[in-house]
Amino acid sequence: MAFQSLNLIEPILKALAKEGYTNPTPIQQQAIPLALKGHDVLGCAQTGTGKTAAFSIPIIQLLAQQKQRRPGIKALILTPTRELAIQIDESIAAYGSFAHIRHTVIFGGVSQLHQTNALKKGVEILVATPGRLLDLVNQKFIDLRQLEFFVLDEADRMLDMGFIHDVKKIIALLPPKRQTLFFSATMPPEIQKLADTLLKNPKTVEVTPPSSTVEKIGQKLYYTNKSDKPKLLLYLLEKEEIDTALVFTRTKHGADRVVKALLKEGIKAAAIHGNKSQNARQNALNGFKSGKLRILVATDIAARGIDIDELANVFNYDLPNIPETYVHRIGRTGRAGNSGIAISFCDGETLKELKEIQKLIGKTIPVIEKHPYPMAAGSIEKPELPKARTSNPKRRFQRR
Ligand code: AMP
Repeated sequence: MAFQSLNLIEPILKALAKEGYTNPTPIQQQAIPLALKGHDVLGCAQTGTGKTAAFSIPIIQLLAQQKQRRPGIKALILTPTRELAIQIDESIAAYGSFAHIRHTVIFGGVSQLHQTNALKKGVEILVATPGRLLDLVNQKFIDLRQLEFFVLDEADRMLDMGFIHDVKKIIALLPPKRQTLFFSATMPPEIQKLADTLLKNPKTVEVTPPSSTVEKIGQKLYYTNKSDKPKLLLYLLEKEEIDTALVFTRTKHGADRVVKALLKEGIKAAAIHGNKSQNARQNALNGFKSGKLRILVATDIAARGIDIDELANVFNYDLPNIPETYVHRIGRTGRAGNSGIAISFCDGETLKELKEIQKLIGKTIPVIEKHPYPMAAGSIEKPELPKARTSNPKRRFQRR
């Protein structure tokens, strides 16, 4: 199924084509038509399923189709973390670029000045985390009385993170006549209760969470030193007989450095990242898809929208600092029932990231101990061993 069959308006189709998306994901196929018809939607879906577009696209379309776009905040998207808020706002910027939707994002932990200035200019879609939203409502920078659309994103995480009271306070401020889209990866009783009070005759849409897709993906972890990562990559490409792979780095320079190291060894590789022109990116992608390039190195932003069938191997050359990104990245392999391998490198600087990722996926990634570039001793946090009562073996012997 193509996006064309979802009755989307031209400015949105154009924006999706620009993003490189051709087909809607299952959650998008289900949720977009329902939301466009004005239904409340209860979506069971995790990050990584394409849920952001599933709720953003219908809102952008319904706003764009309004004959008179009166001032005031028309849509509120409430999400638990700053990272998610930024990602959602970036998605709205992308999907709404040709519909000229005014949007902004607010979150705590930073000065509010930039945010209040943006609000003063007029905003139709507001993406927010709960604390900062309440703060700015109390300071009268935000008026939600014109609201027509409300999205509650990651409801179960709101509960886990202790935001549920703030969420309830915000809900009390919303006009009762509105369309509500409610997304949660899981439905514990308290979240079900919240959904029941928020939604009117909702249509439920559900997709297999990526964690179950993730189950099919063989995950491996190599502890190593930052400086040894190029050598470890070359070693694994050879030893594991990996023909092609998508390699993720955190920075653009990092991506260029990996490509340089691979080219030096005669491995055909190219990088795609924000500093490359659209043409250079497309050429690299085409080269990879056609098999001319063995390795494609990408940053997360640049990798958005890349849809490569039968991608067997993903390397997390640098672990991402947002744990959900790990699920997105490795979800690029093992698609359409294929099994995939995701190999991650962890150096002394990314132990914290590893911990967060393992917490999110609810499992420990199997460690491959035997390889020629292990992490320098002492860098891996090991559980402390109980201290021996005495360090003098002789005395212990005497006591016996
Ligand atoms: P989300 O679950 O909304 O965080 O989206 C997960 C990732 O999939 C993001 O990187 C999106 O940019 C990407 N994405 C969303 N919809 C599509 C689509 N229809 N085709 C390809 N990529 C998509």
